[in-house]
Amino acid sequence: MTELKKYSIDTSNLDFDPDELREKYAEERDKRIRKDGFGQYQQATGDLAGFMEDHYVEPGFEREPLTDQVEVLIIGGGFGGLLAGVQLRKAGLNDIRFIEKAGDFGGTWYWNRYPGAQCDVESFVYFPLLEELDYIPKERYSHAPEILDHAIAIAKKFDLYRDTCFQTEVTELRWDEESKLWAIYTDRKDVIKAHYVIMANGVLTRPKLPGIPGITSFEGHTFHTSRWDYAYTGGSSEGKLTGLADKRVGMIGTGATAVQCVPHLGESAKQLYVFQRTPSSVDVRNNAPTDPEWVKRLEPGWHKKRVENFSLLVTGGRPKKAKSAQDQVNDGWTDVANSAEKMEREKTKTTPEQKKELRELADLKKMEEIRDRVSSVVEDEATAEALKAYYWQFCKRPCFHDEYLETYNLPTVSLVDTHGQGVERITPKGVVVGGREYEVDCLIFGTGFELGSSYTTRSGYDVIGRDGAMLSERWAYRPSTLHGILSRGFPNCFFLGYIQTGVSPNFTHMLGEQAQHIAYVIEEGHKRAAKTIEPTQEAEDAWVAVIEQSADAVERHFAKCTPGYYSNEGEVGNRNGFMNGQFGAGPVSFFELIADWRAEGTLRGLEIR
Ligand code: NDP
Repeated sequence: MTELKKYSIDTSNLDFDPDELREKYAEERDKRIRKDGFGQYQQATGDLAGFMEDHYVEPGFEREPLTDQVEVLIIGGGFGGLLAGVQLRKAGLNDIRFIEKAGDFGGTWYWNRYPGAQCDVESFVYFPLLEELDYIPKERYSHAPEILDHAIAIAKKFDLYRDTCFQTEVTELRWDEESKLWAIYTDRKDVIKAHYVIMANGVLTRPKLPGIPGITSFEGHTFHTSRWDYAYTGGSSEGKLTGLADKRVGMIGTGATAVQCVPHLGESAKQLYVFQRTPSSVDVRNNAPTDPEWVKRLEPGWHKKRVENFSLLVTGGRPKKAKSAQDQVNDGWTDVANSAEKMEREKTKTTPEQKKELRELADLKKMEEIRDRVSSVVEDEATAEALKAYYWQFCKRPCFHDEYLETYNLPTVSLVDTHGQGVERITPKGVVVGGREYEVDCLIFGTGFELGSSYTTRSGYDVIGRDGAMLSERWAYRPSTLHGILSRGFPNCFFLGYIQTGVSPNFTHMLGEQAQHIAYVIEEGHKRAAKTIEPTQEAEDAWVAVIEQSADAVERHFAKCTPGYYSNEGEVGNRNGFMNGQFGAGPVSFFELIADWRAEGTLRGLEIR
């Protein structure tokens, strides 16, 4: 265990001992660190391919292969792809085709239809294009069906259904230097040519399964939360899972997904066992229907301001103008930043080191409140203790729910705590923990999504650029881009998502800004009759160096963390990891930086031919 430095500022007024807590955090982390890191998981392929099945389409869809050409091909119909499509339409581009594995638009909200699925980020900032669609979400934290409907509404409004290939997976992208076009190969034997390709494959898309011995031996019913089998469970995203009334159900995982569906499983199943490795921090949800009086007071332009305010405050930034200094969203996401600032204001002079300490203390305080909440809700003391999260708030994805903890008071629900070690074994009849077998009829995996593998592995196909260069090889150690969107040697291929960019927990904000940037570059390319657009080597190297500077700071932070996908399962230096490609000064600074770059109008750092 690492030796911990004591705090330099006076902590005697706190009702907890910060040094003791930090030690406890380090102990809990050490207990969970595994040598195999991401290697502990396996892909849902081969014997496990059934976990990828799409339950939401009619089986047997067939169509003739396509062998034509389009101007822009967008891979992925989630919010990223949709927002790129919207920006391109606005720029006057008509010839756009989407390729999407699912049966409709919606991305994560197409797949994640599990009971209780809801967005943890406030709907008034999460939903994109609210003013343009003249839409106000029904409640502060929206449920999945409304979000899926909004994605579909965007596609309809901007005519994005035209020329779309659903239920189609890309198998390869190959650059043809002679024609200066991409050839896109798919599992439906299409060979489509495109001038530009946008890879909007998504981030949390490929379900991952733990490498628990015996996983394929289970003889009961089983599925992953992102492929919820309502034909078996009955009910809907609102719960009432009548098919489980006579079933013993096991749930593996206690992340953000499990926190939302466990209350419904607890309410419906004859018996529910929740197998926990690490507890989530579960703060209050406090959802409410949208206040019509508040809506009446909204002025044009309100949405952009609120979205920016959230991204700035949640990443520890401070608004420049006093007028916007107010925390507009003011919820569990921005709370830590708020209380750190409050503590700072109480001090007359603070050094940079003390500022860091104050932020740490605010975090410890917040997590103490969250732990106290567990004790006040969960009746059984041992269960309550096991449900307490001992780590820094943003080491793992914070969760918010008002019924999750209460579920453990039901006589039919048991928390099976694995003390950080995970499930031991799966047998034909159930799950083994601590040498005891828990027999279940249905086993649900809430074990999350693949991250930490290479970008092309997660995409599901390779990109073969100029001179046969393979993206999988070029990016084997880490991605290499200018502004996260273009990479030398892969002309006209745009990346949209989590690569070397400004990261906001409000994904749609990040995707919207990237979409705007990509559409601008394509539009400028058109104006200049460009055949190819790619970064110069110097510009790309300079951007990678910028990202590398912050990667070290990110690594130092996550080295203190209980493993999870935020901290690359303890493989802190993995440059393909979730948090390792961030622009250190935060998302809003990144968005300003690329907006300034656009305003220059020179496409600085890009080579246009
Ligand atoms: P996560 O990766 O967050 O959680 C996976 C869970 O499986 C963890 O509790 C993990 O434990 C557990 N697990 C893994 N292996 C084992 C094992 N061998 N034995 C026992 N338990 C195991 O996946 P989720 O699907 O919950 O969430 C993924 C992400 O999706 C979220 O972080 C969030 O970004 C997004 N999401 C967003 C929502 C929203 O509101 N917008 C709602 C739901 C999800 P351990 O922690 O120890 O690794």
